[in-house]
Amino acid sequence: MSTLADRLGEVSTRIEKAASLANRSAEDVTLIVVTKTHPADLVVELLGLGVTNFGENKDQEASAKAKLVAELASQHNPIWHFVGQLQSNKVKSVLGYAEVLHSLDRQSLLDELNKQLSRVEHKGLQVFIELNLTDDPKRGGIDPNHLLNFAEKVLEVENLQLLGVMGVASLGGSAEADFERIATASQQLQKLAPEARFISAGMSADFEQAIEHGATHIRVGTAITGKRE
Ligand SMILES: *Cc1c(COP(=O)(O)O)cnc(C)c1O
Repeated sequence: MSTLADRLGEVSTRIEKAASLANRSAEDVTLIVVTKTHPADLVVELLGLGVTNFGENKDQEASAKAKLVAELASQHNPIWHFVGQLQSNKVKSVLGYAEVLHSLDRQSLLDELNKQLSRVEHKGLQVFIELNLTDDPKRGGIDPNHLLNFAEKVLEVENLQLLGVMGVASLGGSAEADFERIATASQQLQKLAPEARFISAGMSADFEQAIEHGATHIRVGTAITGKRE
């Protein structure tokens, strides 16, 4: 059976190959290991293997885990990324540990962030605007046609740093086409906000394709952690 270190090494090699094929530097691709459903011990082990960026998608689980990891591995400084749907009533808690939010997907969430970030002295939050790549408006995310309107509002909020766009390739669809749409949206966004040049895209099943299409932040779970129960 492969070990955590083996799987991390394999994914790192695959990132290097994909970057090289795309004439990009692997250093421009940030690996976020998604540790949802896995215990704090696994995060501590990954910290020992040199991983710094971790992704979680549920506040209750993530806040407890971040606290435990801080106790168990106080010599390390993990960076927590919140990658899941975020309810407005969890914003305050998430701001307590997360440095990056990948799923800013609606005005009401932006309003709550604005409120919480202006309330206390805060180090700020980095955000990606999540795009809805499906035809279903009920799915999370901003319609790519409304991206620039929404981005203008994001840019007005103090203590919020817009990093770029985030997308999840639709199940059963063509990941290739989805990543192309994300890249196009990113280029449009950069005309408005040149510094918002980052792209969060790609998971275990498709991160190489995402890198080919310019992903700068990939969110990899099972390929490294093994299956979730
Ligand atoms: C769980 C999750 C991932 C990681 O998925 P894997 O298929 O396990 O790599 C990436 N992004 C988001 C938003 C997730 O919820």
